[in-house]
Amino acid sequence: MKLLIPGPVTTRPEVRAALAHDFAPWDRDFYPLYAGVRARLLPIAGVGPATHACLPLQASGHFVIEAALRTFVPRGGKVLVPQTGSYATRLTRLARECGRDVLSLPVAEDARIDPGAVAAALAADAEIGHLAFVYSETSTGVVHDAEALVAAARAHGRRVIIDAVSAFGALPLDLSSMPEVDAALFTANKCLEGVSGLAFAISPCDRLAGCAGQAESWCLDLADVHAHAERVGTGSFRFTPPAQVLNALSVALDLLAAEGGRAARLARYEANRDSLAEGLRAISLTPYLPRSLQGPIVFNVLAPDDPRWDLQSFVDRLKERGFLISNFYDTAEPSFRVGLIGALVPDDFREAVRAMDQALEALGIRKRKAA
Ligand SMILES: *Cc1c(COP(=O)(O)O)cnc(C)c1O
Repeated sequence: MKLLIPGPVTTRPEVRAALAHDFAPWDRDFYPLYAGVRARLLPIAGVGPATHACLPLQASGHFVIEAALRTFVPRGGKVLVPQTGSYATRLTRLARECGRDVLSLPVAEDARIDPGAVAAALAADAEIGHLAFVYSETSTGVVHDAEALVAAARAHGRRVIIDAVSAFGALPLDLSSMPEVDAALFTANKCLEGVSGLAFAISPCDRLAGCAGQAESWCLDLADVHAHAERVGTGSFRFTPPAQVLNALSVALDLLAAEGGRAARLARYEANRDSLAEGLRAISLTPYLPRSLQGPIVFNVLAPDDPRWDLQSFVDRLKERGFLISNFYDTAEPSFRVGLIGALVPDDFREAVRAMDQALEALGIRKRKAA
């Protein structure tokens, strides 16, 4: 079965094989594995251990987003969140539930965040300490201009938190030129093509010491993750880690390097997108986004305007043919979501389109255009 979803992604057999080991996480053989993964993630963000720390949590992505908000934004502090889609909504809820104040900046679902609007919102409210945004909005598939947004925050002397969960490992991110970024957040199971169970923040070391205790949580305190790693030298987890997941991520990072690194991975995902777009055109399905806004991570397709259309039935017919897509709508207009990431190549998308064509036939759908 191929997972055409934006996480957890289809993995390579080598990655899954790395789960078939037992580890004692305090064992001397485990330390280099752990230290190696942390060290190898930093350069993907354009930084090294002299300035930045790679901080893991045994968690999914939401946990590390909450951890970053707690660690870097003081209780009652104000965060500007551009409302790009359901992942920005999640970020907003995470902030509010831990007592941080959110100012929402409206953004159309089929548009990029306007850095000018961000700058104006920051200029208008001196209480906003942070800008927090979703780099690749996993609901719509729009990739936002991280560099321009961080520059807008820099111009107004504000700090930044980036939800890079569906971006990291494929989309460019150079934190060496972004000293105002307190945290870039990601997980093992999206563009890094590992399995689920580990989430990470990359943060500037000099900010972490000053934020001790601010999280008001032990589990979700990134400053404490850092302090612990510093204290024990080679580094060990504070609590039991998903050791097999870490081993699988280590293999996934070997495969990323063998592929040619981040840029090569992005090129493959872009080729996946182009393959899917071409195939959809041939079977008369309509993309949700205009070509100029369509990112290489998630591709939404407008639901056919036919009374026989039913998303779950379509998903089931596709599954019979070896492909799984999301079985829920995550956009204002109903559209089905196809993930472009994971261990997939353009040929997989040609086959997926053939399966979509057959699934629509099987459901008796004649009108494939959207309303
Ligand atoms: C996947 C994702 C998350 C985290 O989701 P989890 O299910 O908690 O791992 C957060 N933000 C974005 C943009 C994502 O794509």
